Amino acid sequence: MPSNWHSGTLCLLIETNQGLVLVDTGPGQDDYVHRPGIIRAFQVLTVVPLDPQEAAVRQVVRLGYEPEDVRHIVLTHMHFDHCGGLPDFPHATVHVHRREYEAFTGRPRRWTDLAYVRRHVAHRPELVLYDHTGERWLDATAIRLPFEPEMWLVPLFGHTRGHCGIAIQTEPGWLFHVGDAAPMDLGEYVPEWVVSFVLGPHAPRLREFRAAHPNVRMTTGHMWLDFFGDGVK
Ligand SMILES: [Zn+2]
Repeated sequence: MPSNWHSGTLCLLIETNQGLVLVDTGPGQDDYVHRPGIIRAFQVLTVVPLDPQEAAVRQVVRLGYEPEDVRHIVLTHMHFDHCGGLPDFPHATVHVHRREYEAFTGRPRRWTDLAYVRRHVAHRPELVLYDHTGERWLDATAIRLPFEPEMWLVPLFGHTRGHCGIAIQTEPGWLFHVGDAAPMDLGEYVPEWVVSFVLGPHAPRLREFRAAHPNVRMTTGHMWLDFFGDGVK
């Protein structure tokens, strides 16, 4: 990536019947101070935003909430840039696919496993691990999460062994956050082999999904910073 491309991680904060649910945490406050080696490697390639004010916990506070108000965290996957903020919400219950947690805690098997940083769960959060249930959300295999409004974990394995998208019922309609299973714009401008090497095999399928469900808003885990507006520099 050219070094003038700034990137960030998309985190979503949702008010539910169980309190606030955060979908992915982005890097945590401590990551800005003690940068994991993998972040330093990324910095060679791209400008990683490293202003601690961008940590999800700081943004939650700026919205007028307490960190303890975030009762649950749902993870697309456990790479450092998606779950590094777990220690900032030590009271939150963490919801993740069982295969992802096993990949995180197991031996590295492919190069993307190097983006797991074990200390992100050193505080031993309460975990809820999910398995295949045979349910479906729209036409996708999915697992219902225990929240209202409705939220679903949608397995999109490939980028990591247990990577999932998250479907969220919002007032204007469904929002489908596909995490790192596709690049922004679902890879229309990125060579297919690069997409499948880094992000897994789902981009073509997700493009079909978007064509079949034009009313579902889709978003990915990494956007260029201008997407976020004024909140992030
Ligand atoms: Zn990732």
